[in-house]
Amino acid sequence: MVKQTIQIFARVKPTVRKQQQGIYSIDEDEKLTPNLEIILPRDLADGFVNNKRESYKFKFQKIFDQGASQETIFENIAKPVAESVLAGYNGTIFAYGQTGSGKTFTITGGAERYSDRGIIPRTLSYIFEQLQKDSSTIHTTHISYLEIYNECGYDLLDPRHEASSLEDLPKVTILEDPDQNIHLKNLSLHQAATEEEALNLLFLGDTNRMIAETPMNQASTRSHCIFTIHLSSKEPGSATVRHAKLHLVDLAGSERVAKTGVGGQLLTEAKYINLSLHYLEQVIIALSEKHRAHIPYRNSMMTSVLRDSLGGNCMTTMIATLSLEKRNIDESISTCRFAQRVALIKNEAVLNEEIDPRLMIIRLQKEIQELKDELAIFTGEQRTEALTDAELLQLEKLITSFLDDQDPESRLEVGTDMRKIHHCFHHLKKLLNDKKIHGKSTVSCEIKDQDCQEPLKEEEYKKLRDILQQRDNEINILVNMLKKEKKKAQDALHLSSMDRSECRHSQSLPFPPGNPEDLRTLPSSAPKQIQDVSTFGYRSSLLHRKTGMREEMSLGRQEAFEIFKRDHADSVTIEDNKQILKQRFSEAKALGESINETRSKIGRLKEEITQRHMQQVALGISENIAMPSMPDLLEEKLRSQLEEEKRRYKTMFTHLKALKVEIEHLQLLMDKAKVKLQKEFEAWWTEEATSLQVNSPALNSLSHVKPFPQTPEFQQETSQLLFNKSNVNARKILPSPSPIPPSQEHNSTSTSLESSVPERPASSVPLTGDSQTDSDILAFIKARQSILQKKCFQ
Ligand code: ADP
Ligand code: MG
Repeated sequence: MVKQTIQIFARVKPTVRKQQQGIYSIDEDEKLTPNLEIILPRDLADGFVNNKRESYKFKFQKIFDQGASQETIFENIAKPVAESVLAGYNGTIFAYGQTGSGKTFTITGGAERYSDRGIIPRTLSYIFEQLQKDSSTIHTTHISYLEIYNECGYDLLDPRHEASSLEDLPKVTILEDPDQNIHLKNLSLHQAATEEEALNLLFLGDTNRMIAETPMNQASTRSHCIFTIHLSSKEPGSATVRHAKLHLVDLAGSERVAKTGVGGQLLTEAKYINLSLHYLEQVIIALSEKHRAHIPYRNSMMTSVLRDSLGGNCMTTMIATLSLEKRNIDESISTCRFAQRVALIKNEAVLNEEIDPRLMIIRLQKEIQELKDELAIFTGEQRTEALTDAELLQLEKLITSFLDDQDPESRLEVGTDMRKIHHCFHHLKKLLNDKKIHGKSTVSCEIKDQDCQEPLKEEEYKKLRDILQQRDNEINILVNMLKKEKKKAQDALHLSSMDRSECRHSQSLPFPPGNPEDLRTLPSSAPKQIQDVSTFGYRSSLLHRKTGMREEMSLGRQEAFEIFKRDHADSVTIEDNKQILKQRFSEAKALGESINETRSKIGRLKEEITQRHMQQVALGISENIAMPSMPDLLEEKLRSQLEEEKRRYKTMFTHLKALKVEIEHLQLLMDKAKVKLQKEFEAWWTEEATSLQVNSPALNSLSHVKPFPQTPEFQQETSQLLFNKSNVNARKILPSPSPIPPSQEHNSTSTSLESSVPERPASSVPLTGDSQTDSDILAFIKARQSILQKKCFQ
């Protein structure tokens, strides 16, 4: 057992503007516990009464200033936790701080660069690397990804996520067993055999989270995300399995609202916007108070899920993310205060070992067989097959040692098998005959002894029968228990294949209890759902969904999308990543070619060495001299060349592997960015359509006209008409996308405006003669013009 307080770290986010002087300082003189001093700016401090402090000092295990890289964060914070998880302990890392302070950046990573990878991808990479190195143990890794929003849990890896909104998904609920262990119903566990598969799951979850988010729910700042790596390991042949869980938690923004009526004072008591965080604080206060008997874990879903991580069986680490700008001072102080309380919590991490049910069954089967043998004696049901040679030999050895034993109390233990007992008698008889030491008197004496022992035997028989009855009952109970467990596992299997909406994996038990399968064969025995929702299935369905969206688009909409994409702020990132990806691809290709070359070079060198060796031997034989004792210089040269090439091969291979991970990561980043782009386009399109309806007097008067982009036929019709029947410029009368930050908006709007305004007034567009279509076109053009004009004056 390892007792440890929760480790607290602080990370300061780089400020956008030049670092504001004098807001904070880090005192690392005292090496062990560095101090973070937050200095209240004069203008803010002035408002306080005289006894208010002007600076606040907080101790942390380590403080990472603005320049700290993601690599440094991983090495210092996550790696030690990952190591203890690999050793079999539970671990948790959670990021706490106000919205925008860098929680997601720290836990998951930035969406732009490969070097911005956060704790989750780096930890996955590290764990899989370590597992690969340790071939003496059988490992299994499962991933789950839970989002808690408004006190409800959602499975971010639920395959239905893509098709439904958050509210339509089955909720993840908490079940507590009699031992007070928490199980999560409807949270799926996905086996990940490689880093790549695990990474795919992370991106899938993040993409699902993004898709489900709406401006109304702002899930990303108000929800908590718990990415869990479940590790199981077992030594071959050993009966114990180790389970360890690593929770990587991105909490909701910790911003508070100052209590009303206190005159808006800073640093006074404030309430969380997020209720779960309020309950988290309550649990933390309760845990940090000595002798507090009741800890209110049950008050919220998050504290229930993280119960072990808070004052339980876990090694827990907190990262306080701080955005130390003047306007965030009060929130930063709150975050630090929270961290100081968290640092008081003591956890006790224990190794989570469990007996392998498969070996338990073997043991029980053996016991059952022994008891059956015993039972057979009393029921008269005898085994008839002959004893094997090995059994006979063993019996003879037992008899010899029994006869040699001088102890009068010694016994000949051959069990209850009558065949063995008979054989012993025969053998003894044979020995007696052989030695001719038997006499009638002795025999009759023995018979007399036997007679007088008869009542005693009767008693013993009764005693044995009672014991047997007891054992029999015990076995029956155990067998029933086993049957029940097996049935439960089968039911779960059956249910999940019958009804995919039922997901019954318990979070804390990646292996269904009583499942006798070997760990390595688990995927095939695990509920079907795990296979159905395999990572690759996800990836392709994700892509399919994206392409599906494009296929549904009308021509006009596609064109609008192209422009939207071109002018979107993210397009630079996507383009950059595309370039990097291209570069990495060609690097990988070149490296692959070099590897192949080196491989054939190695083959050639080996061949040469063998030939040289044979030549030397042949030379020795033909000249009838022994092998020269002097080392062959040429062969040595070849060998050192071979070693060199092998080293090169290894280095290049490692590099190629790293490149592969980077390529995969970049691809996922791009996929995610594309989905985001599409989602924003959809939102913008709908918004434009609505404003078109509201703003256009023409449309208002034409109540029979359908809202502009609602039906694909109508969009197609309109854009086609604009393309075919009006002038070429009319093609450009598409909504000008402007999801660019306001600072850049002005320029881009004016440039897009130039190209968007039709040369001819709308009224001069040749009409079709069909009054409805004509009014549609007119309405559309008028609406566009009014929007464009509005943008122009913005
Ligand atoms: P939170 O999850 O706490 O709301 P984010 O992680 O989304 O905050 O961070 C907000 C913005 O700041 C993001 O654009 C992110 O890329 C950026 N950011 C946060 N921390 C850092 C950092 N340490 N280095 C560079 N950029 C950062
Ligand atoms: Mg976030």
